Amino acid sequence: MDIEKNIQLLKQNVPEGVRIIAVSKTRTLEEMEIAYNLGLRDFGENKVQEFEAKYDSFHQDVRWHIIGHLQRNKVKYIAGKVFLIHSVDSIRLLKEIESQYEKINQCARILIQINIGREESKSGILIEELEELIKEVELCRFVKVHGLMAIIPKGEEARNRQYFRNMKEVFEGFKLKKINNLSMEYLSMGMSGDFGEAIKEGSNMVRIGEGIFGKRINNNNL
Ligand SMILES: *Cc1c(COP(=O)(O)O)cnc(C)c1O
Repeated sequence: MDIEKNIQLLKQNVPEGVRIIAVSKTRTLEEMEIAYNLGLRDFGENKVQEFEAKYDSFHQDVRWHIIGHLQRNKVKYIAGKVFLIHSVDSIRLLKEIESQYEKINQCARILIQINIGREESKSGILIEELEELIKEVELCRFVKVHGLMAIIPKGEEARNRQYFRNMKEVFEGFKLKKINNLSMEYLSMGMSGDFGEAIKEGSNMVRIGEGIFGKRINNNNL
């Protein structure tokens, strides 16, 4: 098992100030333990059921990140338990998060997922839908937006960098505006294959699965 080596190498390649999310979907608690012991405290899951099982059996001091498409009927199971929901991609989902967090009287921390490559198969909102979503965010009492997330189309470096650059521009543009319930802190972009490019273009949160834990066997997602 090379998890230790992978993490040491990753830490050399990721500057301070860029947060590493260990994407632990499909991985065992034993594998996650190795990452934990090397100091990683941010773990990303894309399935609510898997998250719930791990939440109960893993260390209590980790920050959990929901990174996959989130169904509205699953929000109640994660409310109050996660550090950050990366994948908010509709007004209906936003409203469900608001209502579930109201019940527990807590504030949800979310990112808005942008479908920057305009791929039909991918979730995330289109850039032109962002303003409408943010109008709804401003009305919320139990949700705060902390930034943006994107999964870019598979492609070669120059095009990847263009997508990352577009995201950074949107991110910076909103930083200048004063918007209720919104502060652009996290720009979550870059995965095992392209995190270097993402960081060069301004990412401060990378989501790394295979680059830490090795190839996924049951790889239904992505
Ligand atoms: C699986 C996944 C990742 C990690 O992908 P790797 O290629 O294994 O690094 C990142 N982001 C999301 C949303 C994912 O579902």
